[in-house]
Amino acid sequence: MLLDRRTFAAGSVALLSGCATTGTGTRTLADCTPLAPVDAEPARLIRSVAGLRPYRRSGFVVRAEALGDKRLVHNYGHGGGGITLSWGSAKLATELGLPGHQGPVAVIGSGVMGLSTARLVQDAGFPVTIYTAALPPDTTSNIAGGQIHPYSVFEDDAVTPEFNAQFLRALDYSWRRFQIMVGDEYGIRWLPTYVERHSREAQLLGSFPPVNRLLRPAEHPFPFDSVLRYDTMYVETGRYLRQMVRDVRIAGGRIEVRKFATPADIAALPESLVFNCTGLGSRELFGDQELQPARGQLAILEPQPEVNYAFTGSPGYMFPRPDGILLGGTFELDEWDPTPDPAMIQRIIASHRRFFSRFRCAA
Ligand SMILES: Cc1cc2nc3c(=O)[nH]c(=O)nc-3n(C[C@H](O)[C@H](O)[C@H](O)COP(=O)(O)OP(=O)(O)OC[C@H]3O[C@@H](n4cnc5c(N)ncnc54)[C@H](O)[C@@H]3O)c2cc1C
Repeated sequence: MLLDRRTFAAGSVALLSGCATTGTGTRTLADCTPLAPVDAEPARLIRSVAGLRPYRRSGFVVRAEALGDKRLVHNYGHGGGGITLSWGSAKLATELGLPGHQGPVAVIGSGVMGLSTARLVQDAGFPVTIYTAALPPDTTSNIAGGQIHPYSVFEDDAVTPEFNAQFLRALDYSWRRFQIMVGDEYGIRWLPTYVERHSREAQLLGSFPPVNRLLRPAEHPFPFDSVLRYDTMYVETGRYLRQMVRDVRIAGGRIEVRKFATPADIAALPESLVFNCTGLGSRELFGDQELQPARGQLAILEPQPEVNYAFTGSPGYMFPRPDGILLGGTFELDEWDPTPDPAMIQRIIASHRRFFSRFRCAA
């Protein structure tokens, strides 16, 4: 599919023929615009993590149905783009659930989808209780790199036109909502993003992503023939989710730690409107066999404040955050083990180390 963050092939860095390489020190060549390289030494690893993306080939589920005498609205299955789509998908879900409703509301799950849904329900004036098996920092959402771009959300040949319309509406609302949250409080910032590409990426919305153009070799230091640049936002997910939990509580929300085994347990709740935001948990809870885990692993290196851009391509991806330099790129379908594999973490570091040592010039 077009929008894909899973191009990682450790070890393959396609060099531009005849380019100079460099390590450290400022060096501006006439045909090269410098950027600070990441110091991808294995000794700089501060932690490694893995998470299971809730992936569905035909895309996420936002749908209302009856559960006994309740209205149940599903909002799950956002694959590799759940942070990106969170506000917009929550918006779609609340538009299905809230009209005509009176009284308190239940939200199941406190990942990014449950918290965003709860906030929109509160904004509309309803009291909320979140029921959740685990809270941040123990959710998949906390593992996410936090790039605002909807990668690996569905397969192009498996989606319906109706889904496409939902997807674009969700993306549009999220895109605008994250913009008004930029800053240290929520840990959101804009960064230029460089993509190793052989073709121009699609412009998804009229305004997203901005810039989005192929660069001339003189405009970047990367050892690739074809590099695309766009600007987008990055979310420091740990800080963001902590603040979202705070916001739910400030607005009077209750949070109850509780795991549901069956839909009958949910039917017994006192609230007559329930939002299901259980991510991959919906496979067991609601029997959605299309949901698959897509494991992603991240090597996190010591922060480098001078690295003020992001990169994705064949070495993997690099997102610089205040809490560390994230190196990643794996998308392992049907892998259920949520622990990082030390050998893969070393491969991720090694491929980035090779890549950054081949910058044609460096700041
Ligand atoms: C390595 C990695 C990198 C990623 N990078 C990005 C990125 O850069 N940008 C992006 O947009 N997305 C990214 N993602 C994807 C993103 O993390 C997910 O799409 C998103 O976190 C899904 O959010 P969620 O709230 O649906 O699920 P979760 O965060 O998993 O939350 C589900 C909640 O439901 C609760 N729950 C589950 N089952 C039950 C039950 N039976 N009873 C009660 N509670 C239950 C859980 O305890 C949890 O609180 C990445 C994912 C990974 C793993």
